[in-house]
Amino acid sequence: MEKLTVVGSGTMGRGIAYVAAIGGFQVSLNDVNQENLDRAKLYLETEMTKSADKGFLTREQASVALKRIEYTTSLEKAAGDTDVVIEAVFELMELKVDIFKKLDKICPEHTILATNTSTMSPTEIAAQTSRPEKCIAMHFFNPVHKMKLIEIVRGLETSDETMTKAKEIGKKLGKETVEVNEFPGFVTSRMNCLIGNEAMNLLMEGVASAEDIDKSMKLGLNHPMGPLALADLVGLDTRLRNMEYLYKTLGEKYRPCPLLIKYVKAGRLGRKSGQGFYTYES
Ligand code: NAD
Repeated sequence: MEKLTVVGSGTMGRGIAYVAAIGGFQVSLNDVNQENLDRAKLYLETEMTKSADKGFLTREQASVALKRIEYTTSLEKAAGDTDVVIEAVFELMELKVDIFKKLDKICPEHTILATNTSTMSPTEIAAQTSRPEKCIAMHFFNPVHKMKLIEIVRGLETSDETMTKAKEIGKKLGKETVEVNEFPGFVTSRMNCLIGNEAMNLLMEGVASAEDIDKSMKLGLNHPMGPLALADLVGLDTRLRNMEYLYKTLGEKYRPCPLLIKYVKAGRLGRKSGQGFYTYES
């Protein structure tokens, strides 16, 4: 396996491109939006330089990895000769299905098609292709180059061979993996979305400030990061889409907090827009 294609160059896609290039893959990073691709290129150059400055990578490793990444708005160019695709576009079922249908036509027969969905059904996405046995979910965490886990989610038709290959890819990317049977939200998103939503409800009800809610979880329950700061890191638009899907599939418990909806309507998307539950300088 030599070439890995990432579709979507946002928060997650650029991070997956980072670990794939360091892991030795030829990487093609695809996005429909040229500006986002340019931003992703700048991010990758900056982050790899920082990692080299801090001694996590050698300068040689960073420079070789950066040369392994190509940036393109053409899905045909990105995926026509690839061995594995990891899709990381918005959390919208119609969009993911549309991309998988295109990939199914463009990619060679042996190519594995993985989605980085946080909540959605890989079975439903795979059913729209002629190769459901080669489809799987590989759920990465943010920031990808720092977080150790990939949750690998088996769809109904996913073959054992594809599961084994997904684990091998995870290992090549320097990650630990867990195997999960498909259910909305898997293990991590299902729990994390509930904690985050409850924190937002507490804030909306005026029970405590954002700082004190996060401090309570960090110092009282030993979470490394508060749930509101984490939601800002994820992106509030992305989190809202996750909550909407879980609400639709799992019911009332996952009704998105009205404060989250209000923030997204106002364009407060967390770190990426400079304001969410906290304000960010740049
Ligand atoms: P994002 O909004 O940062 O980036 C999405 C990117 O997809 C954008 O650059 C957009 O231009 C691109 N895109 C949209 N349509 C496209 C198309 N047709 N072809 C190619 N590119 C297209 O989103 P994100 O936060 O990176 O989330 C991506 C996926 O990863 C979602 O499914 C999300 O649930 C999942 N995820 C997110 C996080 C997180 O912390 N943000 C963590 C784990 C998983």
